[in-house]
Amino acid sequence: MTNKESFKALVVEKGDGQLVAEVKQMSIEDLPQEDVLIQVDYSTLNYKEGLGFANRNKIFRTFPMVPGVDLAGTVVESKSSDFKPGDQVILNGWSVGERFWGGYAQMASIKSDFLIPLPKGMDTKKAMSIGTAGYTAMLMAMALEDAGVTPDSGPVIVTGAAGGVGSNAVAILAKLGYEVTALIRPGQEFRHDFLRQIGAKEIADGKEWAEKSAPLETQKWAGAVDTVGSIVLTRVLSQMKYGGCVTACGLAGGHDLNVTVMPFILRGVSLRGVDSVSCPTPKRIQAWDRLVTDIPDAALEKINKFIPLEEAPLYAKKILEGGITGHIVIDVNA
Ligand code: NDP
Repeated sequence: MTNKESFKALVVEKGDGQLVAEVKQMSIEDLPQEDVLIQVDYSTLNYKEGLGFANRNKIFRTFPMVPGVDLAGTVVESKSSDFKPGDQVILNGWSVGERFWGGYAQMASIKSDFLIPLPKGMDTKKAMSIGTAGYTAMLMAMALEDAGVTPDSGPVIVTGAAGGVGSNAVAILAKLGYEVTALIRPGQEFRHDFLRQIGAKEIADGKEWAEKSAPLETQKWAGAVDTVGSIVLTRVLSQMKYGGCVTACGLAGGHDLNVTVMPFILRGVSLRGVDSVSCPTPKRIQAWDRLVTDIPDAALEKINKFIPLEEAPLYAKKILEGGITGHIVIDVNA
Protein backbone atom coordinates (compact mmCIF):
# COMPACT_ATOMS: atom_id res chain seq x y z
CA MET A 1 0.00 0.00 0.00
CA THR A 2 1.40 3.44 -0.91
CA ASN A 3 0.05 6.30 1.13
CA LYS A 4 1.44 8.90 3.47
CA GLU A 5 0.98 6.62 6.47
CA SER A 6 2.69 3.56 5.03
CA PHE A 7 5.23 3.42 2.24
CA LYS A 8 8.46 1.63 1.38
CA ALA A 9 11.94 3.15 1.70
CA LEU A 10 15.38 1.62 1.41
CA VAL A 11 17.33 2.66 4.47
CA VAL A 12 21.10 2.34 4.91
CA GLU A 13 22.43 2.22 8.45
CA LYS A 14 25.92 1.91 9.85
CA GLY A 15 26.40 -1.51 11.42
CA ASP A 16 29.56 -2.89 13.02
CA GLY A 17 32.17 -1.75 10.50
CA GLN A 18 29.89 -2.16 7.50
CA LEU A 19 26.69 -0.71 6.10
CA VAL A 20 23.36 -2.48 6.37
CA ALA A 21 20.66 -1.76 3.76
CA GLU A 22 17.04 -2.77 4.34
CA VAL A 23 13.66 -1.94 2.81
CA LYS A 24 11.43 -0.64 5.62
CA GLN A 25 7.87 0.64 6.01
CA MET A 26 7.73 4.34 6.87
CA SER A 27 5.22 7.11 7.36
CA ILE A 28 5.68 10.79 6.49
CA GLU A 29 6.50 11.55 10.14
CA ASP A 30 9.74 9.59 9.54
CA LEU A 31 10.79 11.84 6.63
CA PRO A 32 12.78 15.06 6.92
CA GLN A 33 10.43 18.05 6.98
CA GLU A 34 11.28 19.87 3.74
CA ASP A 35 8.80 22.04 1.83
CA VAL A 36 7.68 19.63 -0.92
CA LEU A 37 6.32 16.11 -0.42
CA ILE A 38 6.60 13.92 -3.53
CA GLN A 39 5.10 10.58 -4.46
CA VAL A 40 8.05 8.95 -6.21
CA ASP A 41 7.65 6.90 -9.38
CA TYR A 42 11.24 6.04 -10.26
CA SER A 43 14.83 6.57 -9.16
CA THR A 44 18.14 5.35 -10.62
CA LEU A 45 21.27 3.45 -9.71
CA ASN A 46 24.63 4.96 -10.63
CA TYR A 47 28.33 4.47 -10.01
CA LYS A 48 27.93 6.88 -7.09
CA GLU A 49 25.47 4.59 -5.32
CA GLY A 50 27.89 1.73 -6.02
CA LEU A 51 30.54 3.65 -4.08
CA GLY A 52 28.00 4.57 -1.39
CA PHE A 53 26.75 1.05 -0.65
CA ALA A 54 30.40 -0.11 -0.57
CA ASN A 55 31.08 2.61 2.04
CA ARG A 56 33.69 4.22 -0.24
CA ASN A 57 34.49 7.88 -1.03
CA LYS A 58 32.26 9.10 1.86
CA ILE A 59 29.21 9.22 -0.43
CA PHE A 60 26.68 8.71 2.40
CA ARG A 61 27.43 11.59 4.78
CA THR A 62 24.86 10.87 7.48
CA PHE A 63 23.04 7.78 8.76
CA PRO A 64 20.42 6.48 8.50
CA MET A 65 20.42 7.40 4.80
CA VAL A 66 17.84 6.87 2.09
CA PRO A 67 20.07 6.79 -1.05
CA GLY A 68 19.13 7.85 -4.56
CA VAL A 69 20.61 10.92 -6.28
CA ASP A 70 17.66 11.01 -8.69
CA LEU A 71 13.90 10.89 -8.50
CA ALA A 72 10.89 11.67 -10.63
CA GLY A 73 7.35 11.81 -9.33
CA THR A 74 4.30 13.89 -8.45
CA VAL A 75 3.94 16.63 -5.84
CA VAL A 76 1.52 15.60 -3.08
CA GLU A 77 1.91 18.58 -0.73
CA SER A 78 3.80 21.84 -1.14
CA LYS A 79 4.64 24.82 1.07
CA SER A 80 6.46 26.39 -1.88
CA SER A 81 4.76 28.78 -4.29
CA ASP A 82 6.85 27.21 -7.10
CA PHE A 83 5.09 23.83 -6.95
CA LYS A 84 1.53 22.65 -6.31
CA PRO A 85 -0.04 19.22 -5.76
CA GLY A 86 -0.25 17.32 -9.03
CA ASP A 87 2.89 18.89 -10.55
CA GLN A 88 5.35 16.38 -11.94
CA VAL A 89 8.96 17.02 -10.96
CA ILE A 90 12.53 15.82 -11.43
CA LEU A 91 15.37 15.91 -8.93
CA ASN A 92 19.03 15.24 -9.72
CA GLY A 93 21.96 15.76 -7.40
CA TRP A 94 22.25 18.69 -4.97
CA SER A 95 23.76 16.10 -2.56
CA VAL A 96 20.40 14.35 -2.26
CA GLY A 97 21.05 10.67 -1.52
CA GLU A 98 24.35 11.79 0.05
CA ARG A 99 23.62 14.47 2.69
CA PHE A 100 19.83 14.53 2.31
CA TRP A 101 17.42 11.62 1.94
CA GLY A 102 16.94 10.67 -1.69
CA GLY A 103 14.83 8.78 -4.20
CA TYR A 104 14.93 5.19 -2.91
CA ALA A 105 11.47 5.50 -1.37
CA GLN A 106 7.86 5.75 -2.46
CA MET A 107 7.61 9.18 -0.77
CA ALA A 108 10.27 11.89 -0.48
CA SER A 109 10.37 15.24 1.28
CA ILE A 110 12.59 17.57 -0.77
CA LYS A 111 13.67 21.23 -0.73
CA SER A 112 11.79 23.02 -3.51
CA ASP A 113 15.03 24.72 -4.66
CA PHE A 114 16.30 21.29 -5.73
CA LEU A 115 13.34 20.49 -8.00
CA ILE A 116 12.66 21.26 -11.63
CA PRO A 117 9.39 20.68 -13.46
CA LEU A 118 9.18 17.61 -15.69
CA PRO A 119 9.59 19.00 -19.21
CA LYS A 120 6.59 18.90 -21.55
CA GLY A 121 6.70 15.80 -23.74
CA MET A 122 8.41 13.62 -21.12
CA ASP A 123 6.93 11.25 -18.52
CA THR A 124 8.55 10.21 -15.23
CA LYS A 125 9.58 6.83 -16.65
CA LYS A 126 11.52 8.46 -19.47
CA ALA A 127 12.97 11.04 -17.07
CA MET A 128 14.51 8.35 -14.89
CA SER A 129 15.52 6.22 -17.88
CA ILE A 130 17.68 9.26 -18.60
CA GLY A 131 18.47 10.13 -14.96
CA THR A 132 21.62 11.86 -13.80
CA ALA A 133 23.52 9.70 -16.31
CA GLY A 134 21.71 11.13 -19.33
CA TYR A 135 21.44 14.63 -17.92
CA THR A 136 25.23 14.64 -17.34
CA ALA A 137 25.79 13.28 -20.85
CA MET A 138 23.62 16.13 -22.19
CA LEU A 139 25.67 18.69 -20.21
CA MET A 140 28.79 17.21 -21.79
CA ALA A 141 27.34 17.43 -25.30
CA MET A 142 26.38 21.06 -24.56
CA ALA A 143 29.95 21.73 -23.35
CA LEU A 144 31.32 20.38 -26.63
CA GLU A 145 28.92 22.64 -28.54
CA ASP A 146 30.01 25.62 -26.40
CA ALA A 147 33.61 24.84 -27.35
CA GLY A 148 32.68 24.97 -31.03
CA VAL A 149 32.88 21.22 -31.68
CA THR A 150 30.30 20.39 -34.37
CA PRO A 151 29.60 17.16 -36.27
CA ASP A 152 31.69 18.64 -39.12
CA SER A 153 34.71 19.08 -36.83
CA GLY A 154 35.51 15.35 -36.94
CA PRO A 155 34.98 12.16 -34.91
CA VAL A 156 34.31 12.25 -31.17
CA ILE A 157 35.21 9.60 -28.61
CA VAL A 158 33.18 8.52 -25.55
CA THR A 159 35.06 6.60 -22.84
CA GLY A 160 33.36 4.15 -20.49
CA ALA A 161 30.88 3.98 -23.35
CA ALA A 162 28.92 0.98 -22.07
CA GLY A 163 28.21 2.64 -18.70
CA GLY A 164 25.31 4.85 -17.70
CA VAL A 165 26.78 8.24 -18.64
CA GLY A 166 28.77 6.77 -21.53
CA SER A 167 25.88 4.98 -23.25
CA ASN A 168 23.67 8.07 -22.95
CA ALA A 169 26.48 10.19 -24.40
CA VAL A 170 26.88 7.80 -27.35
CA ALA A 171 23.14 7.97 -28.06
CA ILE A 172 22.90 11.76 -27.70
CA LEU A 173 25.98 12.58 -29.77
CA ALA A 174 24.93 10.15 -32.52
CA LYS A 175 21.44 11.71 -32.57
CA LEU A 176 23.05 15.16 -32.89
CA GLY A 177 24.95 13.94 -35.97
CA TYR A 178 28.42 13.31 -34.55
CA GLU A 179 30.50 10.34 -35.67
CA VAL A 180 30.98 8.52 -32.37
CA THR A 181 33.72 6.10 -31.37
CA ALA A 182 32.84 4.14 -28.23
CA LEU A 183 35.75 3.19 -25.98
CA ILE A 184 35.42 0.09 -23.80
CA ARG A 185 37.91 -2.25 -22.15
CA PRO A 186 39.55 -4.92 -24.34
CA GLY A 187 37.88 -8.35 -24.55
CA GLN A 188 34.29 -7.11 -24.31
CA GLU A 189 32.98 -8.16 -27.74
CA PHE A 190 29.62 -8.92 -26.06
CA ARG A 191 29.11 -5.14 -25.79
CA HIS A 192 29.77 -4.31 -29.46
CA ASP A 193 26.24 -4.93 -30.79
CA PHE A 194 24.74 -2.86 -27.98
CA LEU A 195 27.06 0.06 -28.71
CA ARG A 196 26.37 -0.01 -32.44
CA GLN A 197 22.61 -0.21 -31.82
CA ILE A 198 22.66 2.93 -29.68
CA GLY A 199 24.65 4.88 -32.28
CA ALA A 200 28.38 4.10 -32.14
CA LYS A 201 30.05 4.14 -35.55
CA GLU A 202 33.36 2.68 -34.33
CA ILE A 203 34.49 0.81 -31.24
CA ALA A 204 37.90 1.32 -29.63
CA ASP A 205 39.09 -1.40 -27.27
CA GLY A 206 42.82 -1.75 -27.95
CA LYS A 207 45.19 -2.88 -25.22
CA GLU A 208 47.13 0.39 -25.56
CA TRP A 209 44.31 2.13 -23.65
CA ALA A 210 45.63 0.49 -20.48
CA GLU A 211 49.17 1.71 -21.18
CA LYS A 212 51.03 4.99 -20.79
CA SER A 213 50.75 7.26 -23.86
CA ALA A 214 53.23 9.64 -25.47
CA PRO A 215 52.64 13.35 -24.72
CA LEU A 216 51.31 13.78 -28.26
CA GLU A 217 49.94 10.98 -30.42
CA THR A 218 48.30 10.96 -33.85
CA GLN A 219 45.43 13.48 -33.95
CA LYS A 220 42.10 11.64 -34.03
CA TRP A 221 39.30 13.32 -32.09
CA ALA A 222 37.59 16.69 -32.43
CA GLY A 223 35.74 16.13 -29.18
CA ALA A 224 35.69 13.71 -26.26
CA VAL A 225 33.39 12.74 -23.42
CA ASP A 226 35.39 11.10 -20.65
CA THR A 227 33.83 9.19 -17.77
CA VAL A 228 36.91 7.13 -16.87
CA GLY A 229 39.70 9.56 -15.92
CA SER A 230 43.27 8.48 -15.16
CA ILE A 231 45.37 6.84 -17.90
CA VAL A 232 42.44 6.75 -20.34
CA LEU A 233 41.88 10.52 -20.11
CA THR A 234 45.64 11.07 -20.51
CA ARG A 235 45.61 9.13 -23.80
CA VAL A 236 42.47 10.90 -25.03
CA LEU A 237 44.17 14.28 -24.46
CA SER A 238 47.24 13.16 -26.39
CA GLN A 239 45.08 12.15 -29.38
CA MET A 240 43.00 15.32 -29.70
CA LYS A 241 42.91 17.17 -32.99
CA TYR A 242 44.07 20.77 -33.13
CA GLY A 243 41.55 22.96 -31.21
CA GLY A 244 39.62 19.96 -29.89
CA CYS A 245 37.74 19.82 -26.59
CA VAL A 246 37.65 17.09 -23.95
CA THR A 247 34.84 17.10 -21.42
CA ALA A 248 35.50 15.15 -18.22
CA CYS A 249 32.95 14.08 -15.61
CA GLY A 250 34.12 10.82 -14.11
CA LEU A 251 36.65 8.68 -12.31
CA ALA A 252 35.44 5.14 -13.09
CA GLY A 253 39.06 4.22 -13.92
CA GLY A 254 40.70 6.40 -11.26
CA HIS A 255 40.83 10.00 -10.06
CA ASP A 256 44.46 10.67 -10.97
CA LEU A 257 45.49 12.56 -14.11
CA ASN A 258 49.08 12.57 -15.24
CA VAL A 259 49.39 14.84 -18.29
CA THR A 260 51.93 17.05 -20.01
CA VAL A 261 51.06 20.55 -21.19
CA MET A 262 51.75 19.53 -24.81
CA PRO A 263 48.14 19.04 -26.01
CA PHE A 264 47.21 22.42 -24.52
CA ILE A 265 50.14 24.53 -25.73
CA LEU A 266 50.84 22.91 -29.10
CA ARG A 267 47.33 21.92 -30.23
CA GLY A 268 45.11 24.41 -28.39
CA VAL A 269 43.18 21.55 -26.80
CA SER A 270 40.79 22.42 -23.98
CA LEU A 271 39.73 20.30 -21.02
CA ARG A 272 36.33 21.14 -19.55
CA GLY A 273 35.06 19.69 -16.30
CA VAL A 274 31.36 18.88 -16.12
CA ASP A 275 29.43 18.72 -12.84
CA SER A 276 25.79 17.72 -12.64
CA VAL A 277 25.34 17.84 -8.86
CA SER A 278 25.51 21.60 -8.28
CA CYS A 279 24.80 22.72 -11.85
CA PRO A 280 22.73 25.95 -11.73
CA THR A 281 18.99 25.47 -12.28
CA PRO A 282 18.65 27.40 -15.60
CA LYS A 283 21.27 25.14 -17.20
CA ARG A 284 19.58 22.02 -15.78
CA ILE A 285 16.28 23.12 -17.29
CA GLN A 286 17.98 23.76 -20.62
CA ALA A 287 19.56 20.28 -20.56
CA TRP A 288 16.30 18.56 -19.61
CA ASP A 289 14.35 20.46 -22.29
CA ARG A 290 16.83 19.23 -24.88
CA LEU A 291 16.57 15.66 -23.59
CA VAL A 292 12.92 15.55 -24.70
CA THR A 293 14.21 15.23 -28.26
CA ASP A 294 17.99 14.78 -28.21
CA ILE A 295 18.05 11.16 -27.07
CA PRO A 296 16.12 8.58 -29.10
CA ASP A 297 13.48 6.49 -27.26
CA ALA A 298 14.77 3.41 -29.12
CA ALA A 299 18.22 3.92 -27.59
CA LEU A 300 16.74 4.43 -24.10
CA GLU A 301 14.91 1.10 -24.42
CA LYS A 302 18.20 -0.66 -25.14
CA ILE A 303 20.16 1.21 -22.47
CA ASN A 304 17.80 0.72 -19.52
CA LYS A 305 17.05 -2.14 -17.17
CA PHE A 306 14.35 -1.75 -14.49
CA ILE A 307 14.79 -3.25 -11.02
CA PRO A 308 12.76 -3.09 -7.78
CA LEU A 309 13.98 -1.23 -4.70
CA GLU A 310 14.90 -4.50 -3.00
CA GLU A 311 17.55 -5.25 -5.66
CA ALA A 312 19.38 -1.92 -5.38
CA PRO A 313 22.14 -3.21 -3.02
CA LEU A 314 22.86 -6.15 -5.35
CA TYR A 315 23.13 -3.93 -8.44
CA ALA A 316 25.19 -1.38 -6.51
CA LYS A 317 27.75 -4.16 -5.97
CA LYS A 318 27.58 -5.17 -9.64
CA ILE A 319 28.14 -1.63 -10.91
CA LEU A 320 31.50 -1.47 -9.10
CA GLU A 321 32.45 -4.95 -10.30
CA GLY A 322 31.77 -3.87 -13.89
CA GLY A 323 28.93 -6.30 -14.54
CA ILE A 324 26.39 -3.83 -15.89
CA THR A 325 25.88 -2.62 -19.45
CA GLY A 326 23.80 0.56 -19.77
CA HIS A 327 21.78 2.22 -17.03
CA ILE A 328 19.63 0.98 -14.14
CA VAL A 329 16.24 2.47 -13.28
CA ILE A 330 14.64 1.71 -9.91
CA ASP A 331 10.89 1.26 -10.01
CA VAL A 332 10.14 2.05 -6.37
CA ASN A 333 6.56 0.82 -6.76
CA ALA A 334 7.41 -2.61 -8.26
P1 NDP B 1 29.08 3.13 -14.84
O1 NDP B 1 29.70 2.16 -13.90
O2 NDP B 1 27.71 2.90 -15.34
O3 NDP B 1 30.03 3.31 -16.12
C1 NDP B 1 31.42 3.36 -16.03
C2 NDP B 1 31.97 2.67 -17.26
O4 NDP B 1 33.38 2.91 -17.31
C3 NDP B 1 31.77 1.16 -17.22
O5 NDP B 1 31.22 0.74 -18.46
C4 NDP B 1 33.20 0.64 -17.03
O6 NDP B 1 33.42 -0.57 -17.71
C5 NDP B 1 34.00 1.73 -17.70
N1 NDP B 1 35.39 1.73 -17.29
C6 NDP B 1 35.87 1.75 -16.02
N2 NDP B 1 37.21 1.75 -16.05
C7 NDP B 1 37.58 1.72 -17.36
C8 NDP B 1 38.82 1.69 -18.01
N3 NDP B 1 39.96 1.70 -17.33
N4 NDP B 1 38.82 1.65 -19.37
C9 NDP B 1 37.69 1.66 -20.07
N5 NDP B 1 36.44 1.68 -19.48
C10 NDP B 1 36.41 1.70 -18.14
O7 NDP B 1 29.17 4.55 -14.14
P2 NDP B 1 28.35 5.90 -14.45
O8 NDP B 1 28.13 6.00 -15.91
O9 NDP B 1 27.23 6.02 -13.49
O10 NDP B 1 29.43 6.98 -14.03
C11 NDP B 1 30.66 7.08 -14.76
C12 NDP B 1 31.56 8.04 -14.01
O11 NDP B 1 31.04 9.36 -14.09
C13 NDP B 1 31.71 7.73 -12.53
O12 NDP B 1 33.02 8.01 -12.11
C14 NDP B 1 30.73 8.69 -11.87
O13 NDP B 1 31.08 8.97 -10.56
C15 NDP B 1 30.87 9.88 -12.80
N6 NDP B 1 29.73 10.77 -12.81
C16 NDP B 1 29.97 12.10 -12.63
C17 NDP B 1 28.95 13.00 -12.69
C18 NDP B 1 29.26 14.45 -12.51
O14 NDP B 1 28.34 15.24 -12.30
N7 NDP B 1 30.52 14.85 -12.61
C19 NDP B 1 27.56 12.58 -12.90
C20 NDP B 1 27.41 11.17 -13.16
C21 NDP B 1 28.48 10.29 -13.10
P3 NDP B 1 33.25 -1.98 -16.94
O15 NDP B 1 31.78 -2.23 -16.80
O16 NDP B 1 33.93 -2.92 -17.87
O17 NDP B 1 33.94 -1.80 -15.61
